[in-house]
Amino acid sequence: MEVTKLICIGCPKGCNMTVEHSGKVIDKILDYGCKIGLEYAKNEFAEPKRIITTTVKIKAGELPFVPVKTKDPVNKEKIFAVMKEISKLEIDSPVKVGDVVISDIAGTGVDIVCTRNIKKVS
Ligand code: SF4
Repeated sequence: MEVTKLICIGCPKGCNMTVEHSGKVIDKILDYGCKIGLEYAKNEFAEPKRIITTTVKIKAGELPFVPVKTKDPVNKEKIFAVMKEISKLEIDSPVKVGDVVISDIAGTGVDIVCTRNIKKVS
């Protein structure tokens, strides 16, 4: 049996959890404070995912970049591909919070959305 330590990110308490496993198969999850941690440990062990936040160039905006994020978490293995695709983007202003910058980024099925309003300047 192997042991993997995880820190839950579900709340500020940050429970230090222990996953006992045999390779890919979980035997037991210990030291979680609630169901959120239990689900987090299962997901993190089986298929770790992350929300990605970054910026995208914007044409004629009041700022040169608009902050964006993935609408949903993406598989950790896809982060590099997602960032590479985002780095090539330049979008038109204006934009609003929630506007989709690009759909199905890097074949993940996840959209990239704006997290700030940016006005157009002449
Ligand atoms: S397991 Fe529950 S109590 Fe512990 S850090 Fe996660 S969300 Fe918070």
